[in-house]
Amino acid sequence: MKKKVAISACLMGQHCRYDGRHNLQQQIIDRYGAENLLPLCPEVLGGLPTPRIPAEMQGNKICTQSGTDVTAAFMAGADEALKQAEAAGVQAAILKAKSPSCGCGLIYDGSFSGRLVPGDGIFTQKLKAKGIKVSTELDYI
Ligand code: SF4
Repeated sequence: MKKKVAISACLMGQHCRYDGRHNLQQQIIDRYGAENLLPLCPEVLGGLPTPRIPAEMQGNKICTQSGTDVTAAFMAGADEALKQAEAAGVQAAILKAKSPSCGCGLIYDGSFSGRLVPGDGIFTQKLKAKGIKVSTELDYI
């Protein structure tokens, strides 16, 4: 059966966050059913290790807190995640708020201070460009 909704893998309990933790949102799994959700982590799909140094969007680049430009890995991972989402026929995605990959509407501002600015993560941008509706876990609280 085809999956209908893509979801950030960390929201399904996978330990793929930069710090090796997860952001399990059981209420979303209960609402849609695990069998209908396609977990994707674009940063892992881009070959980044877990745990990893946190990164934020800085203009057109994504850089780690230690100043390494990781834009290429983020882009490659977002492309692969999009490919898998399209192959599964997903019509919508529920992604982790504020992330430089998965954030939707608001993302961290690149200063690693917790401040937010309007914007979408790289994966979210690619999904929206294909007409796939994106929401975040904050829409389900
Ligand atoms: Fe979660 Fe997305 Fe970050 Fe992966 S890239 S840990 S799915 S927010």
